[in-house]
Amino acid sequence: MAADPTWAPSRPLVVGLGLANEAVVRQLLRRGAPVTVVDDRPTPAVRAMAAGLGVDLIESPGDNAVARLVDQADVVLPGPGVPFRHAAIRHASAGGVPLWSELELAARWDDRPIAAVTGTNGKTTVTLLVTSMLEAAGRRVAVAGNNDLPLVDALDTDAEMFVVEASSFRLQFLETFRPVVATWLNLADDHLDWHPDLAHYVAAKANIWAFQGSADLAIGNADDEVVSRELAKAPGRRTTFGRDTGDWRVSGPDLVAPDGRAFVAVDDLPRRLPHDLANALAATATATAVGVELDVCASVLAAFTGFPHRVQLVGEARGVRWYDDSKATTPASVVAAASGFESVVLIAGGRNKGLDFSPLAALAGRVHAVVAIGDSAEEIAGLFTACGEVDVHTAGSMEEAVRAAATAARPGDAVLLSPGGASYDWYRNYGERGDDFARLVDELIERGR
Ligand code: ADP
Repeated sequence: MAADPTWAPSRPLVVGLGLANEAVVRQLLRRGAPVTVVDDRPTPAVRAMAAGLGVDLIESPGDNAVARLVDQADVVLPGPGVPFRHAAIRHASAGGVPLWSELELAARWDDRPIAAVTGTNGKTTVTLLVTSMLEAAGRRVAVAGNNDLPLVDALDTDAEMFVVEASSFRLQFLETFRPVVATWLNLADDHLDWHPDLAHYVAAKANIWAFQGSADLAIGNADDEVVSRELAKAPGRRTTFGRDTGDWRVSGPDLVAPDGRAFVAVDDLPRRLPHDLANALAATATATAVGVELDVCASVLAAFTGFPHRVQLVGEARGVRWYDDSKATTPASVVAAASGFESVVLIAGGRNKGLDFSPLAALAGRVHAVVAIGDSAEEIAGLFTACGEVDVHTAGSMEEAVRAAATAARPGDAVLLSPGGASYDWYRNYGERGDDFARLVDELIERGR
């Protein structure tokens, strides 16, 4: 089916008005669709958004009213924040009414090529690396999806192609979304407060490949059992990356391409923790699949010093290095980050998103002291106390946490704020949490001078 930029569904029902669905409503209205919008949490900001768009907002309808609205709709568009158990989703699934995310809507409107990236951890990093590689090759690209720019809005740019960061919420509701290259980085427990179970989360992620054609390329992580298993079912061409066993891999001192060509030395990479190497391989596999030369990828990697709040060095004093990894909101990302250091004081906790924290116990030894923070402080403290040999503290504020970490740290240590939980217990977002940490580290170092 060819994309048609003027097409519109005849009776779309939009559920939940946030950043993504604001764009969806605006784009549907532009195409003349009579949009119905419901929201269960009509905050003043949501009401203002509806008024700005010029649509009536149906506030907190009961289940029966929702069912009637779904019956009248020809498509239901849930926003990323709408829980999977929501009556609109349940009723639409039961009644066979199509459920679409904004990625599906975009696919109906536009067929410029898309490179898509998903995974539990590393999505933003790899998405932005691929974008930098394409830009360095002189290509006009827009980066969209799970960031500030919904794909339906990115279509208004004159980009020749899109790089899409695809979260499981956006991948859940698809029918035809078909990236020419789609990369799945890894799979660990996440979002189990949204998905009914892990299999459901895996199935959503696998949709990144499900609608590809035989000429499209699926790229998967050879070191990840679940991703490898799902890759075997991808309908298009396939390739893998992985530190030891991937087609794209680390060999001796270099990163190498499937044909064995070494394209960059590990020592030339400013970022070279184990997961940084996996991300570098994945990004290069993705960018070369859409025509970027290997040496262009190599020069982007050699200049890449990382993004804020992702294992970012924010201070160094008395032989101790302080890192802000506030973006780590899953246990798997904490394990990945901490595994890159020999001796660690870990500041961890925050709001648990329904995940099993027990994999953190594997860090005991490498982590010799833990400062537990936020809503899940007790769980984190209990877990490491049970390991023995870990010096465990609990802090009631970030200031206390930084002080406790400073006391526990020894020369040569990394102090790592890598919480594993979300930031909403103490902050509005992970950025604020990381900034507060960095400010307190700065003050501590200043005082110590
Ligand atoms: P996402 O967008 O998927 O949340 P980010 O690129 O923002 O991912 O990185 C979030 C955190 O995940 C980082 O701070 C780091 O601790 C961890 N991380 C990054 N890449 C990987 C990877 N390939 N494997 C495991 N953890 C990773």
